[in-house]
Amino acid sequence: MSLIMLKDITIPEHFPIPPKVSEAELAADHQLFDRVKEALIAHQALLIAHYYTAPIVQRLAEETGGFIGDSLEMARVGKDSPLKTIVVAGVRFMGETAKILSPEKTVLMPDLHSECSLDLCCQTEDIIRVKAEYPKATVVAYANTSAEVKAHSDWIVTSSLAVELADYLKGRGEEILWLPDRHLGSYIANNAKTDVYCWPGRCVVHDSFDPSGIIKLKEQYPEAKVLVHPESPASVVALADCVGSTSQLLAFSKKDDAQTYIVATERGIFYKMQQACPEKTFIEAAIAPQGVSLDGAKCPWMSLNSLSKILECLEGKEPQKHEITVPEDIRVAALKPLNRMLAFSAALKAGSVPNDL
Ligand code: SF4
Repeated sequence: MSLIMLKDITIPEHFPIPPKVSEAELAADHQLFDRVKEALIAHQALLIAHYYTAPIVQRLAEETGGFIGDSLEMARVGKDSPLKTIVVAGVRFMGETAKILSPEKTVLMPDLHSECSLDLCCQTEDIIRVKAEYPKATVVAYANTSAEVKAHSDWIVTSSLAVELADYLKGRGEEILWLPDRHLGSYIANNAKTDVYCWPGRCVVHDSFDPSGIIKLKEQYPEAKVLVHPESPASVVALADCVGSTSQLLAFSKKDDAQTYIVATERGIFYKMQQACPEKTFIEAAIAPQGVSLDGAKCPWMSLNSLSKILECLEGKEPQKHEITVPEDIRVAALKPLNRMLAFSAALKAGSVPNDL
């Protein structure tokens, strides 16, 4: 098994991190809760929120018959809903994924500038060049990529399925070209015991978790278990009692019998963890003092999903500023690897994956 880190990939030196929202702005925004709730119901719009959005956005989804989940679950629910208008509270690739799967629906996002640093690490020109360098490799793209990047991929996968898919491809004798998260690529190579040509991208949040800070927290809370998302560095993964996607970490915290957890993933998940286990204590894992300036384990782009922008989506004067569009040729090309992921996930759940997906 080996990890071959790809070279000459365009990785931004600095990411366009939006400014932090002040407490006063947040308080004013929260006043809109009832109004936005009425607007969602009046417009028969389905609010699909990612686990990393603010607690008030998740509560809004709960109180309007919407949905909260990870990116795979969000894509599925948007597709299966009979409603024709979907508001995706998350980051742009999630809105694009909803549109790829449901072209007949209107997909709106509170802010189309809601980036993901992994997506920003992955330029189409680089993929075209690398694919030409490794023509035999199977391109497996993480869900956190643009529609255009998906269109150049053989498979899309979320973190909840990544190791299983790598195992499956290994069984078929295929080499994996993984993009764009370096830490998840390394995790896949180690766990599926397979060779991976790996893109050097990173998530600004998970890449910032600090192993020495987590060790200090463990000294303070010796009974605590450590929950880690695999977009985190290997030194952080090594400290984990459970490594998994956001949904998997949430499920573990529900069934496990510990009382305290140190959580190395985005802070938004605490809303659902605390709701499911009100008697347990969840502590945010330490962020390294150096590197990007983050507001703790908070994704700066997820914070763009404010209530005022959700209202703007539905009742603003410039709806085009919120609507996700994907050119049809790109959509059709991206649909193929996405459908493969959904078929793989369903087959895995059913207990048997055919060899020819
Ligand atoms: S937490 Fe990281 S991976 Fe998730 S949306 Fe933000 S930047 Fe992207």
